[in-house]
Amino acid sequence: MTRGVVVLGSTGSVGTQALDVIARHPDDYRVVALAAARNTDLLAEQARAFGVPADLARSCVDAPGALAELAAHPEADVVLNAVVGFAGLPATIAALEAGTRLALANKESLIAAGPVVAKARAASGAEIVPVDSEHSAIWQCLRAGRPTEVNRIILTASGGPFRGRTAADLANVTRADALKHPTWQMGEKITIDSSTLVNKGLEVIEAHELFGVDFDRIDVVVHPQSIVHSMVEFVDGATIAQLSEPDMRLPIGLALGAPDRLPEAFGAIDWTTLGTLTFEPPDRDTFRCLDLAYEAGRTGGTAPAVLSGANEVAVEAFLAERLPWSAIAAVVEEVLNAGTGSADEVDDVLAADRVARERALAAVERRSAA
Ligand code: MG
Repeated sequence: MTRGVVVLGSTGSVGTQALDVIARHPDDYRVVALAAARNTDLLAEQARAFGVPADLARSCVDAPGALAELAAHPEADVVLNAVVGFAGLPATIAALEAGTRLALANKESLIAAGPVVAKARAASGAEIVPVDSEHSAIWQCLRAGRPTEVNRIILTASGGPFRGRTAADLANVTRADALKHPTWQMGEKITIDSSTLVNKGLEVIEAHELFGVDFDRIDVVVHPQSIVHSMVEFVDGATIAQLSEPDMRLPIGLALGAPDRLPEAFGAIDWTTLGTLTFEPPDRDTFRCLDLAYEAGRTGGTAPAVLSGANEVAVEAFLAERLPWSAIAAVVEEVLNAGTGSADEVDDVLAADRVARERALAAVERRSAA
């Protein structure tokens, strides 16, 4: 049976790799609808290549309601949400409300709206299969035992381009320095998030939301080779890990076909050339965003939405060269300290995100004026 796939964020890094996987397996998958933000030329080309009618290949910048509409398409068996940032929230909610499997690459929607997403997920029984490489790894490792047998989750982090640097070294780093990720080719937003370790902090919250594990039982270890994508330790002391070369087509293929594995290998390891794998604790003093994220996760309510929204604004300002890299954490911390509340409905989350962005913008302006 051919599965219908809606690809949201189709022109980005995950979106184009997903279309590559789908194109290699035309008997198993067909593209039902596509959405992208600004790259409308590529979007039109993708629509032609995959036989998607023009009214189902939409720019979500021109039509803000398009994401939710496409995510609820009746012919969708899987909605791949690879939109960048908080803008992906309507698609996450719409797919879950429609009872359709959500292949989730847009971690911000789950992080910002955790309690709201949990409600939508419980009401329809729709499943979320993670595309994020770490969470795909954990999802796979969890198959090795029962939920009650899990002792802790260990998220691996590459450490990003600034691993081993001190705060003093990092005072004057540039946009180009921060965009040089050592192991993964990704979009700009997530690459900057990796350089501050806020990406790993967001992934801690994502793991908590996806797998229902307490923050005290989610640890982060730096593993610069990005071969071990994450691990689960069970109560008897056994640790199960998932290893592969960095290639997003592996987690994308699994999220599309789960519980079945794709009959085509991506990132299989050559053990004769692999070399040494190393592990070290993260430098929490230099990369403060990691603990800010733990704090926001433990606070709950709108705190993760505030963290994520403030971070998006700070990253945009850094990419526009209006904010130094070292001030990203300071802006996020300032906005988190300005207050958070409860997040029972989607409107609470939208309001918290709006206020967080205003506060973050003000914090950026103040720093660039100084
Ligand atoms: Mg990741």
